[in-house]
Amino acid sequence: MKILSAEFIRSCYETGQFPRDRLAEVAFVGRSNVGKSALINSLLNRKHLAKVSRSPGKTRAINYFRVAIGSRNREDLYVVDLPGYGYAKVSKSVRAEWGPMIESYLTGRQELRGVVFLVDARRAEAQDRSTVEWLSLMGLKSLVVATKVDKLSRSERARTLGALKEGLGLPADATVIPYSSPTHEGREALWRELTSLLS
Ligand code: GDP
Repeated sequence: MKILSAEFIRSCYETGQFPRDRLAEVAFVGRSNVGKSALINSLLNRKHLAKVSRSPGKTRAINYFRVAIGSRNREDLYVVDLPGYGYAKVSKSVRAEWGPMIESYLTGRQELRGVVFLVDARRAEAQDRSTVEWLSLMGLKSLVVATKVDKLSRSERARTLGALKEGLGLPADATVIPYSSPTHEGREALWRELTSLLS
C-alpha cells in the first residue's frame, strides 16, 4: 500500500473533540505494550508518528491520525489509536478500565468501520479474550493481528498461533494476521484486510 500522507491530528479526552468531517475510521486496540505504536508506525511507513502522542499523561487519550492511501484512487481515513488496557494490577473488566469515553466511542461512533485488535503472538491473556468477546457482542467488525511474530521460530509458529486462537475463543479457521513491526511482515496482508473493511 502506498501511503500518500500520514499526520497526527490530536489527542481527544472527550467526545466533543472527535473530528467532524465524517471520514471513515479504523480503531486500534490492545493491551499496553502489545506493540501498538510500533505497528501503527510500520503500517503507515513512518518512524515516529505514533510516538507523537506518547508523552506522559496522554496514555488515556484517543489519538487521531489522518492518513491518505493510494492504490488506484486516493482514499482518506482516520487511524484511531485507543488507550491500551491492562494497566490495573487486579484485572478489572475492560470496560471499567477503559472508561465511558472509549466505550461510547466503540459503541456509538458512526464513522467507525472496524477495529484492529492486537494481541501478543506468544500469549493471549484473559483480558484479551474478554475484549474480543465484547467487541463481537457489540457487533463490531474486528481484524485480529498477532504482534511480535519475529519472536517465534518458524517451527513454533503454527502451534503458537493455533493456541492463540484457542486462548481468544476464536474458531480454528479464524483469520489472524501475523505481524512484525521491525521487519514489516504482515503489512500488506493487514492493508488488504483493512481496505476490504473500508470498502
Ligand atoms: P504499545 O504500548 O502497545 O504502543 O507498545 P510499543 O509499540 O511501544 O512496543 C512495546 C515494546 O515492544 C517496545 O519495546 C517495542 O520495541 C517492542 N515491539 C513492538 N513491536 C514489536 C515487534 O513486532 N517485534 C519485536 N521484537 N518487538 C516489538
